[in-house]
Amino acid sequence: MFISLVQRPRQTDAALRHGADCMNDGIRYPGRMNPKLADVESWIFDLDNSLYPASTNLFALIDERMEAYIRRLLACDSVEARRVQKAHFRDHGTTLAGLMREHGVDPADFLDFVHDIDLARIAADPVLIDALDRLPGRKFVFTNADEAYAARVLDRLGLANAFDGMHDIHAMDYVPKPDPRAYSALCERHGIDPKRALFADDMARNLAPAKALGMVTVWLDNGSERGAEEANRGMIDFVIDDISVWLTEMLAEEMA
Ligand SMILES: [Mg+2]
Repeated sequence: MFISLVQRPRQTDAALRHGADCMNDGIRYPGRMNPKLADVESWIFDLDNSLYPASTNLFALIDERMEAYIRRLLACDSVEARRVQKAHFRDHGTTLAGLMREHGVDPADFLDFVHDIDLARIAADPVLIDALDRLPGRKFVFTNADEAYAARVLDRLGLANAFDGMHDIHAMDYVPKPDPRAYSALCERHGIDPKRALFADDMARNLAPAKALGMVTVWLDNGSERGAEEANRGMIDFVIDDISVWLTEMLAEEMA
């Protein structure tokens, strides 16, 4: 389904502020249909810190559980556990990938443990629910977490029925974003044409493989970034700070 969307000056300003390529071949078209968004038919969203505000700091609870898991696994103190956790995240894409490769950890055991958290600090956002409901095309969740946890989060956010599909860490065969194989598998599994897809993630480093496949890329610059976004500026089409606001403003322009 074709849609035409207008590039918002707000996003242009944000992108310029961050030095991102939010322009079309270097030319700004404020108030006109944005060619980068006009043909998008598949909308792909990261989950954690993307579909709910990073300010909820939900991930801190998972982070604590990861540290506790490693502390127990290696019989070490918190400082060493934290060091191992960060090293694996940096070197393997996720803490889990490093634990599997270097410590033979069972992924289901790890995922069940770290995601056993209270979701009370996140809540449904009526603006996001409405925007996703009105967004034409297919919508997907692409997450390095597992489907059971993601389903709990989506349910809590009032988005249990908002998406056409999900690609989780099990579907990735535990090769997480930003490994390019995860993106290819996502597209193949769901019949997504990457040249007519958009991907939004709060970690800039996850955008490069999407861009390489031809996707429009959106960086949610909400303060949660833990990757090296500096290296990926050229891979970012849009820089936004709130997915609800961005989608709602695009849809408003579309209807105008
Ligand atoms: Mg995220």
